[in-house]
Amino acid sequence: MVFGAPERQNALNNFDELGLSKKIVKTLGHLGFETPTPIQAQAIPLVMEGQDLIGLAQTGTGKTAAFGLPIIEALMASETRPQARSTRVLILAPTRELVNQIGDNLRAFCAKLPLKITQVVGGASINKQQFQLERGTDILVATPGRLLDLISREAVTLRHVSHLVLDEADQMLDLGFIHDLRKIAKMVPPKRQTLLFSATMPKTIADLAANFLTNPAKVEVTPPGKAADKIEQHVHFVAGQNAKTEMLKKILTENPDGRSIVFLRTKHGAEKLMKHLDITGYSVASIHGNKSQGQRERALKGFRDGEIKTLIATDVAARGIDIPAVSHVFNYDLPEVPDAYVHRIGRTARAGRDGIAIAFCGPDEGRLLRDIEKLMGIDIPVASGEPPANLSRPVRPQRRGGAGGGGNNRNHQGGQGRGKSEGGAKADGRPAGKPGHRKGGNRSGNGFGQGRPARSGNAGGRRREA
Ligand code: ADP
Ligand code: MG
Repeated sequence: MVFGAPERQNALNNFDELGLSKKIVKTLGHLGFETPTPIQAQAIPLVMEGQDLIGLAQTGTGKTAAFGLPIIEALMASETRPQARSTRVLILAPTRELVNQIGDNLRAFCAKLPLKITQVVGGASINKQQFQLERGTDILVATPGRLLDLISREAVTLRHVSHLVLDEADQMLDLGFIHDLRKIAKMVPPKRQTLLFSATMPKTIADLAANFLTNPAKVEVTPPGKAADKIEQHVHFVAGQNAKTEMLKKILTENPDGRSIVFLRTKHGAEKLMKHLDITGYSVASIHGNKSQGQRERALKGFRDGEIKTLIATDVAARGIDIPAVSHVFNYDLPEVPDAYVHRIGRTARAGRDGIAIAFCGPDEGRLLRDIEKLMGIDIPVASGEPPANLSRPVRPQRRGGAGGGGNNRNHQGGQGRGKSEGGAKADGRPAGKPGHRKGGNRSGNGFGQGRPARSGNAGGRRREA
C-alpha cells in the first residue's frame, strides 16, 4: 500500500484549531459538538490541505463529520456554484438509509450556509430525483445503482466533481459494488480529491483501494476491525431457533426500557421473527430488502423516535446507522462474514455511550463464532449454555500488543478457554455472577467526553444497494 503521510497526533482540542470557519464552529456548538474526536482531529487538517485520505476509526466515532466538515469548507472557499445537472461533491454509501442519514448530517452542518445537498437512492421516485438535480447540487449523496440510473438518463454528470467520498469504503470496494464503482470512477475527473472512510479494512480491499487514490495519507485511530471498548459482549449457546426466540423474548421482557436491534441472516427469517414477536405483544418492526422503501423508512423512523422498541433487521441495517439510544444488539444468527459482526454490534455504544451485544450460537454456528473471535482477537464471554464439543480449544494466548486498544473483553474467561455454562443469564443478558467487566481506561480515546472509543466494523454485505 502506498500510504503517504504519517499518523498525526491528536493535539487539537477544538474545532477552531482545526481551521474550520467561525460559522461552522458555531453550528457545531449548537449540535453539541464541542471537541473533535480523534478521527476528526487527525483527518480534517489533512483533507483541508487537499490530501487524498484513508480514514479508519471504530464505529460511532464521528467519521461523517471527519469528511463532511472539510469538504463543506472547501465548497465555501471556492465561490463557484454548481452547474445544471451536475454536482461538485459525490459521496457514495452502501444503503439507502445510510445515504439519507449522511445527507441529514451534512444538512445540519450547513444549517447557516447556502449549500445544496441532494440524496438519491433506489426505491424512491427517480423522476423526482431527476427534477431535484435539474439546477445542479453542491453535494450529492448516493447509492451507486441509482446514481448510474440517473447518469444514464443524463439527469446528472460527474464531470465537475472535485471531491469523491466512499463511506463504508471496504464494502463499497467489495464484490457487490466494485463493478458500479469502477464505472463511476471513470466518469469522475482524475484530478480530484478522494476520501475513503471505514471502521474495517481487510488487506485485500485496502490494496484495491490504492487504485482509486493518489498518494493518500492514512489516518488510523485504532486497529481497524475492533469493537468499541464500551460494548459488553456475551454469547449464549442455544439448542436451536426456538431456544433463540425464547431467550430473546426473555431478555427483551427483562429490559423494558432497552432499545434493541436484532440481526438475522435472512429476510425471510427476519420477517418471521418480527411477526411472531408482534403477535406475542412486543413492540417491533422489521427492516430488510424485501420491504418497500416506505416501509423501511417508517420502521427506522419509529425506532428512532422510540415508538418501536425492537428492530428486526438483516445486514441492510448493519453499517453506519446512528441511533444513539440503542442499548442492545442481538446477533440472533451469527453472520457468515465475520466483519459483519463488528459492524452490527457497532450500532450500539455510539459516541462514547455503553452498549450490550448478545450473540446466540446454535449447534451449527460454532465455526462462525470462531471466525468472529479470530477476527477480533478475543474470546466472547459465555453467558449461558454449553459450547458445542468442536468449539473447545486451548487457552487463547494474550492478544498481541496493546497498541491502541480495541479488543474488549480480553481475559474475561480467566484463561480457562471456553468453559461450561455460567448458569442463567441476568436480566440484561449479562452472565450471572459476572458483574459488568467494564474496562477502566480509555485505551483508544474516541474523544467523546470521558467516553471510550466507540468502535466498529464492517459488515460484509454482498448485494448491490442492500
Ligand atoms: P461513524 O461514521 O464513525 O460511525 P458518525 O459520524 O455516525 O460515526 O457519528 C456518531 C455519532 O457521534 C453521531 O450521533 C454524531 O452526531 C456524534 N458526533 C460525531 N462527532 C462528534 C463530536 N465531535 N462531538 C459530539 N458528538 C459527535
Ligand atoms: Mg459512518
